[in-house]
Amino acid sequence: MNYAQSIVELIGSTPMVKLNSVTEGITATVLVKLEYLNPGGSIKDRIALKMIEEAEEQGKLTPGGVVVEPTSGNTGVGLAMVAQQKGYRSVFVAVSKVAQEKRDVLRAYGADVVVGPDGVDAQSPLSYYGISDQLAEEIAGGYKPDQFSNPAAPASHYETTGPEIWQDTEGQVTHLVVGAGTGGTVTGTGRYLKEVSAERESGPVRVVVADPDGSVYSGGEGRPYFVEGVGEDIWVPNYDPEVPDEQHAITDAESFGMARRLVTEEGLLVGGSSGTAVAAALKVAKDLGPDDVVVAVLPDSGRGYLGKIFNDRWMIDHGFGEVVSRSGSSGTEI
Ligand code: PMP
Repeated sequence: MNYAQSIVELIGSTPMVKLNSVTEGITATVLVKLEYLNPGGSIKDRIALKMIEEAEEQGKLTPGGVVVEPTSGNTGVGLAMVAQQKGYRSVFVAVSKVAQEKRDVLRAYGADVVVGPDGVDAQSPLSYYGISDQLAEEIAGGYKPDQFSNPAAPASHYETTGPEIWQDTEGQVTHLVVGAGTGGTVTGTGRYLKEVSAERESGPVRVVVADPDGSVYSGGEGRPYFVEGVGEDIWVPNYDPEVPDEQHAITDAESFGMARRLVTEEGLLVGGSSGTAVAAALKVAKDLGPDDVVVAVLPDSGRGYLGKIFNDRWMIDHGFGEVVSRSGSSGTEI
């Protein structure tokens, strides 16, 4: 019989698929790695598993322990799922602007969600970082993984995402295109692929960061943007600036337009940061030839964004009417 012992065993080993329509006029092979097929629905399952397992090994998380993290997004889902399976409670701190639905997903897994105030300085004890620090200290057995600085996060990608791409392309990948939020994906996956290809005749894998226009990683000043999960307004410890070879600043309109094309033309219902990655991948691929293999990592599903990127009314109200007319209506009533 072929089955996993627990849902946690099914994290990783995600498939890749070739893009066939949005790549019109491009001779290079463009592949996308479907991280939304992880059991928690995103790439963050990988770091959740590694951070919790390492904390167990180091004695930081012991029976009866509680995982505490300031997140309401994909990392929360991954941590909630892994913590539950390993017998730990989990508590997440979210700010009140976070959609009710996102908090409800965490609660569905059995996690507790503490809601802190919006618009508080990150250094304040009332910020969601401050609240999570206090909870991790006060709750008996509390442990805060801290995805922005925990070395287990990039390590999980060095040990899994990178080798999967190398094996599935049979060592033929020439370019890796990924977004960077906490930086774990680019640091771990990029470092592995560069190391393993260092002696290759055709040269090492080139690592490209697909960054929202305005984010510091592509030279911006931290100006806000709508795409979620990628870009930063400050440099964070898990982003190793030595790994990427180039950065592309991608506008929200480009990211959202590409996310809409991916579902209507390629059958891939993915989130905005996947649109960012593919938009950058195509910019890179248009100057390449038939021997090149570009791999873009698609972090999560579009299901979490049905009320935004895939909703014509929201798009028009937020200044993306042009994208709606260009990519065609998604069928929502306006
Ligand atoms: N896309 C989405 C939707 C995410 O949630 C994240 C994680 N913040 C990323 C991309 C970027 O991944 P990383 O944190 O590893 O840089």
